[in-house]
Amino acid sequence: MFKFIVTKELGKLARWLRILGFDTAYYTSETQGTLIIKALSEGRIVVTRCRRASDSLDKITLVINSDKLKEQLREVMKELHLSVDEGKMFTRCTFCNGMLERTDKDGVKESIPEYVFKTHNEFMKCASCGKIYWRGTHWGNIQDTLNKILR
Ligand SMILES: [Zn+2]
Repeated sequence: MFKFIVTKELGKLARWLRILGFDTAYYTSETQGTLIIKALSEGRIVVTRCRRASDSLDKITLVINSDKLKEQLREVMKELHLSVDEGKMFTRCTFCNGMLERTDKDGVKESIPEYVFKTHNEFMKCASCGKIYWRGTHWGNIQDTLNKILR
Protein backbone atom coordinates (compact mmCIF):
# COMPACT_ATOMS: atom_id res chain seq x y z
CA MET A 1 0.00 0.00 0.00
CA PHE A 2 1.33 3.45 -0.95
CA LYS A 3 2.37 5.92 1.73
CA PHE A 4 2.13 9.65 1.10
CA ILE A 5 3.47 12.95 2.23
CA VAL A 6 1.14 15.74 1.21
CA THR A 7 2.28 19.37 1.13
CA LYS A 8 0.63 22.29 2.87
CA GLU A 9 -1.76 23.47 0.14
CA LEU A 10 -3.43 20.05 -0.12
CA GLY A 11 -4.80 19.66 3.40
CA LYS A 12 -8.24 18.46 2.31
CA LEU A 13 -6.73 15.89 0.01
CA ALA A 14 -4.58 14.63 2.89
CA ARG A 15 -7.69 14.08 5.00
CA TRP A 16 -9.39 12.15 2.22
CA LEU A 17 -6.37 9.91 1.66
CA ARG A 18 -6.52 9.11 5.38
CA ILE A 19 -10.24 8.34 5.15
CA LEU A 20 -9.35 5.86 2.40
CA GLY A 21 -6.84 4.27 4.78
CA PHE A 22 -3.56 5.53 3.33
CA ASP A 23 -0.72 6.38 5.67
CA THR A 24 -0.56 10.10 4.88
CA ALA A 25 1.82 12.57 6.47
CA TYR A 26 0.90 16.24 6.15
CA TYR A 27 3.83 18.54 5.55
CA THR A 28 3.11 22.08 6.67
CA SER A 29 6.51 23.73 6.37
CA GLU A 30 7.21 26.08 3.46
CA THR A 31 10.71 24.82 2.88
CA GLN A 32 11.43 21.53 1.19
CA GLY A 33 14.62 20.48 2.96
CA THR A 34 13.11 18.10 5.48
CA LEU A 35 10.37 17.13 3.02
CA ILE A 36 12.93 15.24 0.94
CA ILE A 37 14.48 13.57 3.97
CA LYS A 38 11.13 12.50 5.36
CA ALA A 39 9.86 11.23 2.00
CA LEU A 40 12.97 9.19 1.29
CA SER A 41 13.51 7.81 4.79
CA GLU A 42 9.86 6.80 5.22
CA GLY A 43 9.29 5.66 1.63
CA ARG A 44 6.53 8.17 0.95
CA ILE A 45 5.28 9.58 -2.34
CA VAL A 46 5.29 13.38 -2.33
CA VAL A 47 1.91 14.76 -3.36
CA THR A 48 2.10 18.46 -4.16
CA ARG A 49 0.76 21.19 -6.41
CA CYS A 50 4.16 22.80 -6.83
CA ARG A 51 6.72 21.81 -9.39
CA ARG A 52 9.47 23.08 -7.12
CA ALA A 53 10.88 19.67 -6.33
CA SER A 54 14.47 18.98 -7.21
CA ASP A 55 15.51 16.25 -9.65
CA SER A 56 16.21 13.87 -6.82
CA LEU A 57 12.52 14.00 -5.95
CA ASP A 58 11.13 13.57 -9.47
CA LYS A 59 10.66 9.84 -9.26
CA ILE A 60 8.75 9.98 -6.00
CA THR A 61 6.66 13.10 -6.67
CA LEU A 62 3.10 13.27 -7.91
CA VAL A 63 2.18 16.79 -9.04
CA ILE A 64 -1.52 17.56 -8.75
CA ASN A 65 -2.95 19.86 -11.42
CA SER A 66 -6.47 20.60 -10.22
CA ASP A 67 -7.42 22.98 -7.43
CA LYS A 68 -10.68 21.11 -6.78
CA LEU A 69 -10.72 18.36 -4.17
CA LYS A 70 -12.72 15.85 -6.21
CA GLU A 71 -10.44 16.24 -9.21
CA GLN A 72 -7.38 16.01 -6.99
CA LEU A 73 -8.51 12.75 -5.49
CA ARG A 74 -9.31 11.43 -8.93
CA GLU A 75 -5.83 12.39 -10.12
CA VAL A 76 -4.13 10.47 -7.32
CA MET A 77 -6.29 7.38 -7.80
CA LYS A 78 -5.78 7.39 -11.56
CA GLU A 79 -2.05 8.12 -11.64
CA LEU A 80 -1.23 5.41 -9.13
CA HIS A 81 -3.94 2.99 -10.30
CA LEU A 82 -5.52 2.89 -6.87
CA SER A 83 -8.93 1.59 -6.03
CA VAL A 84 -11.07 2.04 -2.96
CA ASP A 85 -10.67 -0.78 -0.47
CA GLU A 86 -13.67 -0.58 1.82
CA GLY A 87 -11.93 -2.79 4.35
CA LYS A 88 -9.22 -0.16 4.72
CA MET A 89 -11.53 2.83 4.92
CA PHE A 90 -11.94 4.55 8.27
CA THR A 91 -8.86 2.91 9.74
CA ARG A 92 -6.93 6.16 10.22
CA CYS A 93 -7.54 9.37 12.12
CA THR A 94 -8.24 12.18 9.67
CA PHE A 95 -6.61 14.70 12.00
CA CYS A 96 -3.32 13.08 12.96
CA ASN A 97 -2.90 9.96 10.76
CA GLY A 98 -2.94 7.67 13.83
CA MET A 99 -4.47 4.21 13.63
CA LEU A 100 -8.07 3.82 14.78
CA GLU A 101 -8.91 1.06 17.22
CA ARG A 102 -12.25 -0.36 18.13
CA THR A 103 -13.24 0.78 21.57
CA ASP A 104 -16.09 -0.27 23.82
CA LYS A 105 -19.09 1.89 24.36
CA ASP A 106 -18.67 2.47 28.07
CA GLY A 107 -15.14 3.75 27.61
CA VAL A 108 -16.25 6.67 25.41
CA LYS A 109 -19.34 7.75 27.32
CA GLU A 110 -17.66 10.79 28.90
CA SER A 111 -16.17 12.01 25.63
CA ILE A 112 -19.15 12.10 23.27
CA PRO A 113 -22.52 13.85 23.11
CA GLU A 114 -25.31 12.02 24.89
CA TYR A 115 -27.47 11.56 21.79
CA VAL A 116 -24.56 9.88 20.04
CA PHE A 117 -24.09 7.51 22.95
CA LYS A 118 -27.79 6.64 22.87
CA THR A 119 -28.02 6.08 19.14
CA HIS A 120 -24.72 4.38 18.27
CA ASN A 121 -23.02 1.16 19.25
CA GLU A 122 -19.79 1.07 17.28
CA PHE A 123 -16.99 3.39 18.27
CA MET A 124 -13.39 3.80 17.16
CA LYS A 125 -10.66 5.69 18.95
CA CYS A 126 -7.44 7.14 17.57
CA ALA A 127 -4.47 5.45 19.20
CA SER A 128 -2.40 8.62 18.89
CA CYS A 129 -4.60 11.63 19.69
CA GLY A 130 -7.60 9.93 21.30
CA LYS A 131 -10.23 11.36 18.96
CA ILE A 132 -13.39 9.27 18.91
CA TYR A 133 -15.23 8.24 15.74
CA TRP A 134 -18.58 6.61 15.21
CA ARG A 135 -20.61 5.49 12.25
CA GLY A 136 -22.92 8.47 11.99
CA THR A 137 -24.62 10.14 9.05
CA HIS A 138 -21.28 11.72 8.19
CA TRP A 139 -19.99 8.25 7.38
CA GLY A 140 -22.72 7.69 4.80
CA ASN A 141 -22.05 11.06 3.19
CA ILE A 142 -18.42 10.15 2.77
CA GLN A 143 -19.29 6.98 0.93
CA ASP A 144 -21.73 8.84 -1.32
CA THR A 145 -19.09 11.44 -2.13
CA LEU A 146 -16.54 8.77 -2.92
CA ASN A 147 -18.92 6.95 -5.21
CA LYS A 148 -19.48 10.16 -7.15
CA ILE A 149 -15.79 10.94 -7.38
CA LEU A 150 -14.69 7.52 -8.47
CA ARG A 151 -17.48 6.56 -10.76
ZN1 LIG B 1 -5.66 11.10 15.88
